[in-house]
Amino acid sequence: MSLLEDWRNKAYDQNEDPNKIQKLWDEYFVKETKIYEQLLTNPDEEVKGTVKELAEKYGYDLEVMVAFLDGINESLVEENPIETMEEDTVVSLKFDKEKLYKNMVEADADWLYNLPQWNDIFDETKRKELYREQKNSHTFRNEKKIGRNDPCPCGSGKKYKNCCLKKDQEEARRAAKEREAAL
Ligand SMILES: [Zn+2]
Repeated sequence: MSLLEDWRNKAYDQNEDPNKIQKLWDEYFVKETKIYEQLLTNPDEEVKGTVKELAEKYGYDLEVMVAFLDGINESLVEENPIETMEEDTVVSLKFDKEKLYKNMVEADADWLYNLPQWNDIFDETKRKELYREQKNSHTFRNEKKIGRNDPCPCGSGKKYKNCCLKKDQEEARRAAKEREAAL
C-alpha cells in the first residue's frame, strides 16, 4: 500500500468510531496550521526535499507530512506524485498563492485563510476579492466529482450522501441563482 493509501484508509475509515476519526482530524488540523504558518511566512521560498526530510523539517511524523501533501496538492504550482510517493520521493511545496487562498476558502477552513501571514501576501481588498470569486465559482463540480457513497471530503468519516452532499447542493443552487441575478 502507498503512504497516501495508508493515511486515507485511517482518516476516512468508516468502520472506526466517528469520535476517534474526529480527534485524529482535530489533531492533524493543529499541525497543518503550524506548517502553513511557516510556509506563508516565506511565501516565495520553495520548500523542497524528500517526504521524510520535510517531515523532519517541520518536526512531525511521516503520516502528518503525507496528509499535508495530500491537502496542499491542488494548490501547488506543480502537483507532486502523491498517489505513489514514498518517503524518499522528492516533493516540492511551491504553492500558487491565489489558488491556495481560494482552496482554503473552498474548504471552509477559516482558521487557515484568516492566518495573519496572509495579510503580508494580499491586502484586504485582494483577499475579499479572492474570497468572493471562490464563493461565486460554486457549480455542481463537487457533486459530480464525489460519489454519493464516497467518504465525505469534510473528513467526518461519514458517507458523502449522509453528510455534506445536501449542503453542497443547496450552496450550488444558491450560487447559480446569484449568478443569474447578476446577469
Ligand atoms: Zn461532510
